[in-house]
Amino acid sequence: MAKIQMTTPLVEMDGDEMTRIIWKMIKDILILPYIDLKSDYYDLGLVHRNETNDQVTVDSANATKKYGVAVKCATITPNAQRVEEYKLKEMWKSPNGTIRAILDGTVFRKPILVNGITPYIPTWTKPITIARHAYGDIYKNTELKAAQGSKAELVITDKDGKETRALIQEFKDSDGIVQGVHNLDSSISSFARACFNYALDAKENLWFASKDTISKTYDHRFKDIFAEIYETEYKAKFEAAGIEYFYTLIDDVVARVIRSDGGFIWACKNYDGDVMSDMLATAFGSLGLMTSVLVSPDGKYEYEAAHGTVTRHYYAHLKGEKTSTNPIATIFAWSGALRKRGELDNIPELCAYADKLEKASVQTMEDGIMDKNLAAMSKLPNKQVVDTETFLIEINNRLKELMA
Ligand code: NAP
Ligand code: MG
Repeated sequence: MAKIQMTTPLVEMDGDEMTRIIWKMIKDILILPYIDLKSDYYDLGLVHRNETNDQVTVDSANATKKYGVAVKCATITPNAQRVEEYKLKEMWKSPNGTIRAILDGTVFRKPILVNGITPYIPTWTKPITIARHAYGDIYKNTELKAAQGSKAELVITDKDGKETRALIQEFKDSDGIVQGVHNLDSSISSFARACFNYALDAKENLWFASKDTISKTYDHRFKDIFAEIYETEYKAKFEAAGIEYFYTLIDDVVARVIRSDGGFIWACKNYDGDVMSDMLATAFGSLGLMTSVLVSPDGKYEYEAAHGTVTRHYYAHLKGEKTSTNPIATIFAWSGALRKRGELDNIPELCAYADKLEKASVQTMEDGIMDKNLAAMSKLPNKQVVDTETFLIEINNRLKELMA
């Protein structure tokens, strides 16, 4: 069978530990036999990041800007223990943070639904995609303690030195605490555009919520920016695609999410997204089934798994033990990136391959073949726990049939 040809390279960002091992297996078993892979390869493994003083991370992000599509393996975010373990020159920053900043992107997380793995909310029959605004609010705050008898004010000094003041609180009878937070119209606008673009791409409704009834200037600004951009740039496109943009209050949206059957995108302010993404990931079941894509406001895409490098399994692997690690979210990062490449370059065979790779992956799990952690959650009667390589070979057995 002739391999599928690509015209434009995909940016490939290799990573660390168990996911780096799985990365190579996925390519060898599931991708290279079918595709004449054109990739612009960057080794984001911690050893090479350290050798290049993290320049490789910046280069990979710039390549994503150039080519438009990337696929990323999980990477170690160094802490003090990793600095020691890898003898690092510095505690390099999170690669995901660096790439997100360069692309000005928003992260969308979407669970893969599999028959036999029931979400904790059984009415969620379609995935709920969550998007978190990853700039500002309490994550870039300034806070102080205030002693009894003091007064806190909000002061803005404009470029000509003119001050505008507002009283926050007079601490007459008690000590207290004060916090200053901000956001940027430019960042909120980028977030809004990334969400509208993603919704058009996925052909799913977009929900956004804040607390504008209480926060009449701050949260209201989020509501207004979303509304303005929707009206002027996206309304007609949404109508043509048969989808809708829906704004409500954060507490109302939480109630609606629980009552829903899924199948929409939920855009969240920074704190809401931090909290709700953990709630959704747990409710849908497994980290091994959570996908993630970074989308920039000008439509560049970087696909990855939501989980990390699965360190515990890696150390077992180094001891020569066979691990049972779930490769599915990493496979879906590849299928997502290849499908997007196929769409952009008008290569329908590449899109069809991506569909079949995903179908074969889900079919394998629905046939009861899965890793240890997933088997513990599955209600299928005929479960068979397999090691990582066997899992991939079983997927390929099904993929071969679909490709024939
Ligand atoms: P993790 O790698 O996601 O693993 C946490 C635990 O979840 C694992 O020990 C394993 O549980 C289970 N798990 C996760 N993915 C799995 C899979 N594919 N198959 C089977 N089980 C899976 O998170 P972590 O241990 O907190 O972080 C490890 C490293 O990853 C850290 O250095 C961190 O910086 C990095 N990290 C990177 C990214 C990224 O690049 N996007 C994201 C998160 C973390 P059991 O051990 O119980 O089997
Ligand atoms: Mg969180």
